[in-house]
Amino acid sequence: MKPTPITVAHGDGIGPEIMTATLRILEAAGASIAPETIDVGEKVYLAGHNAGIAPEAWESLRRTRVFLKAPITTPQGGGYKSLNVTTRKALGLYANVRPCISYSPYVATKHPGMDLVIIRENEEDLYAGIEHRQTDEVYQCLKLITRPGCEKIVRYAFEYARSHGRRKVTCFVKDNIMKFTDGLFRKVFDEIAAEYPDIQNENWIVDIGAAKMADTPEAFDVIVMPNLYGDILSDVAAQIAGSVGMAGSANIGDQCAMFEAIHGSAPRRAGQNVANPSGLLHGAILMLLHIGQHACASRVHNAWLCALEDGLHTYDIFKEGTSRRKVGTAEFADAVIDRLGEQPEKLKSVTYAAGAPLNLPAPKRHAPARKSLVGVDVFLQWSEGGPDRLGYRLRDYGSEDLPLQVITNRGVKVWPNGFSETFCVDHWRCRFKASNDAIAFNHVLDLQARLSAAGFDVVKTENLYTFDGEPGYASVHG
Ligand code: NAD
Repeated sequence: MKPTPITVAHGDGIGPEIMTATLRILEAAGASIAPETIDVGEKVYLAGHNAGIAPEAWESLRRTRVFLKAPITTPQGGGYKSLNVTTRKALGLYANVRPCISYSPYVATKHPGMDLVIIRENEEDLYAGIEHRQTDEVYQCLKLITRPGCEKIVRYAFEYARSHGRRKVTCFVKDNIMKFTDGLFRKVFDEIAAEYPDIQNENWIVDIGAAKMADTPEAFDVIVMPNLYGDILSDVAAQIAGSVGMAGSANIGDQCAMFEAIHGSAPRRAGQNVANPSGLLHGAILMLLHIGQHACASRVHNAWLCALEDGLHTYDIFKEGTSRRKVGTAEFADAVIDRLGEQPEKLKSVTYAAGAPLNLPAPKRHAPARKSLVGVDVFLQWSEGGPDRLGYRLRDYGSEDLPLQVITNRGVKVWPNGFSETFCVDHWRCRFKASNDAIAFNHVLDLQARLSAAGFDVVKTENLYTFDGEPGYASVHG
């Protein structure tokens, strides 16, 4: 078999040690790979590349399209962009797949039956990096959820479940609060779930879902969620399965993929030959499956299970009574290599086989809706008094076509008829809403011009549209 070119980064902290251990195991197992090494991380940041990666490194990644990455250290201080977020977005790696499995009784866990996979949307949500300071007191981060983004990740989750013989896909969102963004994710989940009658589906509000997952992870199989919830809950799931040092993850795109451990560079443990290489090794096993080397992936995984049940444990999972010997990074790699070709006796062995490729068509682009402009939310920085005073002052600046309807502060209605108890900051959302249906954009511009000429500080506006007659904006309650 012609070796598959892959790009490898040894990373920072414990990265080089666990990568060396991982590559040694892959080589001994006969993985047919041709690694190209690139530098990413701390040195590269400090050399002036603000995302921790140099232009030459992108060339290798775009050529091999397969990236095995050790954890890196992001230097403290401002101005540095996350390498992981940059890589995921630049290469379109929209699906983050994290299997979280317990290996009881060899690795202590309160959840011996845990075997779940978190599929996290990787490119959208609050990770768009669109943040602004708008007033003295208020900062904003934009949460972007798109229909194609939801369709891609939800379909990936169902295709993954089907091809991996999993029975159920669960969706975690907070659509009772974020009716438009999380509401869209949930809507798309329900639409796509209907195309997979062979797989159960269910929805949980993320807060109680997270509590249930931390308490009874056996109740879940595959869980799909937007970026931020997935970021947090996949660490929780890995930790309660036994250790963050054990889990690997795949970041999958239409063209490229990146494989890594879920943990960081653990700088305090660096250079001591103590770190557990298992997380990165699991990332590498996911990579072998991605490049079609299923037999090799099975061999490595089973040898790793044998080392685990033989009680050869790194410090993070070592337990007097259960473990037989505390080993270092290199010795653990030797233990895995020594067991290549063996099958575990107590833990369940794995047999990976090539299945049908996932059916992941490009998301359908829908016909554009009939869109009408019906008003505008004007955000003001203002600190000259309370809401009644602002309402009174603004009265004259609306027009017959576009009158002032309501003022909110941090989303709470404060005018007309607000509560004196409501705490207000210097950031006011003033909704001007057309009394009859559609208005021309000029009305919005004229309104802003009048407000600005009157000395108001307009910090931002959001147009209010209807789409096929349905409001495309949240209504104000109260
Ligand atoms: P961390 O994951 O590096 O460490 C958290 C704890 O887990 C530490 O106690 C550490 O000793 C332990 N640990 C982690 N991996 C281990 C392993 N393989 N074996 C044994 N013990 C292990 O998280 P942190 O301390 O918050 O972050 C350290 C650095 O890593 C930061 O610079 C952070 O930005 C970076 N980081 C990088 C990535 C990545 O590259 N994917 C991910 C997370 C954090």
